[in-house]
Amino acid sequence: MNVNQSAPPVPPIGQPQPIYPGYHQSSYGGQPGSTAPPTPYGAYNGPVPGYQQTPPLGMSRAPPSSGAPPTSTAQASCGQAGYGQFGQGDIQNGPSSSTVPMQRLPGSQPFRSPLASAVSQPAVLQSYGPPPPTSTQVTAQLAGMQISGAMAPAPPPSGLGYGPPTSLASASGSFPNSGPYGSYPQGHAPPISQAQGHPGVQPPQQSAPLRASSFTPPASGVPRMPSMTGPLPPGQGFGGPPMSQPNHVSSAPPQVLPPGTQMTGPQGPPPPMHSPQQPGYQLQQNGSFGPGRGPQPNYGSPYPGAPTFGSQPGPPQPLPPKRLDPDAIPSPQLNELPPQQKTRHRIDPDAIPSPIQVIEDDRNNRGSEPFVTGVRGQVPPLVTTNFLVKDQGNASPRYIRCTSYNIPCTSDMAKQAQVPLAAVIKPLAKLPPEEASPYVVDHGESGPLRCNRCKAYMCPFMQFIEGGRRFQCCFCSCINDVPPQYFQHLDHTGRRVDAYDRPELSLGSYEFLATVDYCKNNKFPSPPAFIFMIDVSYNAIRTGLVRLLCEELKSLLDYLPREGGAEESAIHVGFVTYNKVLHFYNVKSSLAQPQMMVVSDVADMFVPLLDGFLVNVNESRAVITSLLDQIPEIFADTRETETVFAPVIQAGMEALKAAECSGKLFLFHTSLPIAEAPGKLKNRDDRKLINTDKEKVWDWKTLFQPQTGVYQTLAKECVAQGCCVDLFLFPNQYVDVATLSVVPQLTGGSVYKYACFQVENDQERFLSDLRRDVQKVVGFDAVMRVRTSTGIRATDFFGCFYMSNTTDVELAGLDGDKTVTVEFKHDDRLNEESGALLQCALLYTSCAGQRRLRIHNLALNCCTQLADLYRNCETDTLINYMAKFAYRGVLNSPVKTVRDTLITQCAQILACYRKNCASPSSAGQLILPECMKLLPVYLNCVLKSDVLQPGAEITTDDRAYIRQLVTSMDVAETNIFFYPRLLPLTKSPIESTTEPPAVRASEERLSSGDIYLLENGLNLFLWVGASVQQGVVQSLFNVASFSQITSGLSVLPVLDNPLSKKVRGLIDSLRAQRSRYMKLIVVKQEDKLEMLFKNFLVEDKSLSGGESYVDFLCHMHKEIRQLLS
Ligand SMILES: [Zn+2]
Repeated sequence: MNVNQSAPPVPPIGQPQPIYPGYHQSSYGGQPGSTAPPTPYGAYNGPVPGYQQTPPLGMSRAPPSSGAPPTSTAQASCGQAGYGQFGQGDIQNGPSSSTVPMQRLPGSQPFRSPLASAVSQPAVLQSYGPPPPTSTQVTAQLAGMQISGAMAPAPPPSGLGYGPPTSLASASGSFPNSGPYGSYPQGHAPPISQAQGHPGVQPPQQSAPLRASSFTPPASGVPRMPSMTGPLPPGQGFGGPPMSQPNHVSSAPPQVLPPGTQMTGPQGPPPPMHSPQQPGYQLQQNGSFGPGRGPQPNYGSPYPGAPTFGSQPGPPQPLPPKRLDPDAIPSPQLNELPPQQKTRHRIDPDAIPSPIQVIEDDRNNRGSEPFVTGVRGQVPPLVTTNFLVKDQGNASPRYIRCTSYNIPCTSDMAKQAQVPLAAVIKPLAKLPPEEASPYVVDHGESGPLRCNRCKAYMCPFMQFIEGGRRFQCCFCSCINDVPPQYFQHLDHTGRRVDAYDRPELSLGSYEFLATVDYCKNNKFPSPPAFIFMIDVSYNAIRTGLVRLLCEELKSLLDYLPREGGAEESAIHVGFVTYNKVLHFYNVKSSLAQPQMMVVSDVADMFVPLLDGFLVNVNESRAVITSLLDQIPEIFADTRETETVFAPVIQAGMEALKAAECSGKLFLFHTSLPIAEAPGKLKNRDDRKLINTDKEKVWDWKTLFQPQTGVYQTLAKECVAQGCCVDLFLFPNQYVDVATLSVVPQLTGGSVYKYACFQVENDQERFLSDLRRDVQKVVGFDAVMRVRTSTGIRATDFFGCFYMSNTTDVELAGLDGDKTVTVEFKHDDRLNEESGALLQCALLYTSCAGQRRLRIHNLALNCCTQLADLYRNCETDTLINYMAKFAYRGVLNSPVKTVRDTLITQCAQILACYRKNCASPSSAGQLILPECMKLLPVYLNCVLKSDVLQPGAEITTDDRAYIRQLVTSMDVAETNIFFYPRLLPLTKSPIESTTEPPAVRASEERLSSGDIYLLENGLNLFLWVGASVQQGVVQSLFNVASFSQITSGLSVLPVLDNPLSKKVRGLIDSLRAQRSRYMKLIVVKQEDKLEMLFKNFLVEDKSLSGGESYVDFLCHMHKEIRQLLS
């Protein structure tokens, strides 16, 4: 059958392609030469409609934009007040001593105005013609705000009811318009520049900078902006009241308002999706917070040749008043302020870049259109945006995300910018049902076509020449002959006429069937096997774990991964139980009862049986069921408390080796393996030492390292065998996760940890994780290689894998959740015209035992202007890389050193932008690139995470566990993990079916009259305010009052009312989005558990000493100024 029924020429842009009902390799374009037999793989539907015509070498690219990227400018004269002064109890944390309501500058609102998106989006899309504004003067005048904020509290839009952090003792309900925010003392309003702030008259070049953020410009003569400056973006709806009310303020209207007029008059309705709503805020930060950290040490030499920003032309700066920081730029309003207000709030939290706003804007702007991958160097939508992907020649962002989609041409530029060049690759990512899995291409015995020199695989960027008889490799430029059976004519553009019929010539991602040359020992692999290895020591039996697990396995074995439409899984299973000895089970189908074989010589592990150990589930079902029934009974009265660990893995690996297959071990383990055996461990967790000696706490690096080399050696053997290890831990005390997780980590496995496991409390979480883990599709015995075009190369790798050389990432197993982060460095000059290419090739054995190659290609732009780099960065991916970099760093350096390194790098990134890309402005301004305006807040979350800045309550095991988890997280997971999502549940109408809009992760955003869900991918809290209406309490908890709610509750009662259904439905939906089950914890306001909850309010100062967002922004600003001075 000839499926290529369309005219061969490349379709014009936008013209829908015919659907090819069956993609058959053998008949492209009627070529008779193909030797490949027709392949049965699913229909290849050809390019999607709207396919863009792309030149063969991926030459199409976004229109070059030469202007400086848009920026956010935080005007931060923070130094003057002394960084150390923050945290003495004011704005952010709402000290109880303050009776002044939360102050807010008029400039505070635009961050949640749609305007921000209007600016940021073009930058991301690169879709605007004229150069973007050189910088977005988003200025947060920290010191200025301190003063002016006190004088000019921003009004909460009515219905929003931003409450003051301190003054309202027990407000509930919405904030009255006539309250302290009802009027704005005009005389004290910060002076606002008319130059830029006049409604409707700003030229785009001037107004755009203002749109990106809302920071009040510096007081030093740099024009100040009212909050709503900037023209309405085209097409931007304006939900506020008519503009005829000059004094009106709503959070939405992007109008230019006369200075000082915003704060009076009725409040307009807020845009529904923005603005955290805070009626009746009454919370106060518990505990007292000491002074913030002192000034940071100077970081080396300043930037060579850095211009002195202080010398920039600009309005003369008034003499600084007496401040701690001589460089600080004072607010002109300072002297106008009553003295008692000068020490109040320095910065308005609403005036600094908001993750919620950025996420919301991206959803609104990019969530409706599919992301089409035909254009080189496109920055994809954020991971928090739901979008569809159409593969038109580059890999979907679900497979690869980059820190930047525009790479500096030279290493000098890259060094100057300090922006890490990295890709976060998830080769087997699960796609939404709307998107097709990669097509499988079968080239028959000849195998996939590759470059003779660099071995890159055929891809859309290879250039066919000489009438199609040869092709030039896009990675190494080598000219290769086209094999006769692959020959095809070229069209007038030089593209093969069958390009759209062949996935490897038109798509970013596809698979090749591998030939026997790609198989171990030149032999096609057997289907993989799963071995369940169950700890049956006293602890495992006592908690009910063994009984629960065995019961579950009886049904779970019906859900082993299978390929395509296969009726049953090809995977064989085996069973081992153990304490200080191992018990193997013969479950051969011909047996009436399972047979146990005990191996007590754990020092020299061997597998006592081959036949009957690994079996087909359906064939041996009766024997397996009998075994699973018997195991809990056999060990019901055990007194054995000691366990071994390394011999268990050894046994599983040997069993796979004997069966000549790859596979996965599922280990269910409870305790530190202290029994005499290889890999025996001792308890090295000295809590006394940790709690008393702070320096020791920071020098925990040895506790992150395995205490013996046995496990690395074992892991190496496992990788060689394609033996992946998933570890389920059920510890009651220290089990040395750092050591026990070595093998899972190096074999591409997963670790799950259920501390103090109790069946009644934890079974849902454990079983949910287990089901997902057993069912998920895994590639076995995998090797991943990332090739790059000349000029850059992969130099460093992060993730759960093993490397025996510098290029090949070896994964005994790789599932759809695991990512490998790859860093690139220059080894030559890159070329703007040809860009840079990545090709990730993953060779693996499918769960049906088929050997395959999965190929992902991605073309990036290259730039000679730093501004282009900064315009095309992706902060979420940067954070993913930086977190992994730091989390690996703790193995070798004290966490303090690691944190300082991160801070320095971030400061250098932002200083380089400031120096090279931003328009001249006062040194008192903190100017952030639009694409990186969340870098400080997110980086701060990494810095104060449990691994880098542990609180006293976090255990050594938990830190090692988290460290291990983050190592293989994708970008979406690190995003939510470091900046949790906080959802108000009772704000939106109960009939609303959409997820409620999130609010910023700060205590200040909590209202005692409401209920919130907080999730970070691992934890899920339901926070209940003390003033929640009694009806709500009844509807959700089925009790009469707040005081009757059980703190720490983990299951909500199933009640037949709309609120209960909605909340439980939302919880289910959140859980479904995450790769691990999140156990619910109900936290009552001012309850003991609240301290745990507050740890996740990451914009606040943390109890372990982590800075608040505002403080950190000041800190960062100071670092940047030091670099620039
Ligand atoms: Zn090549």
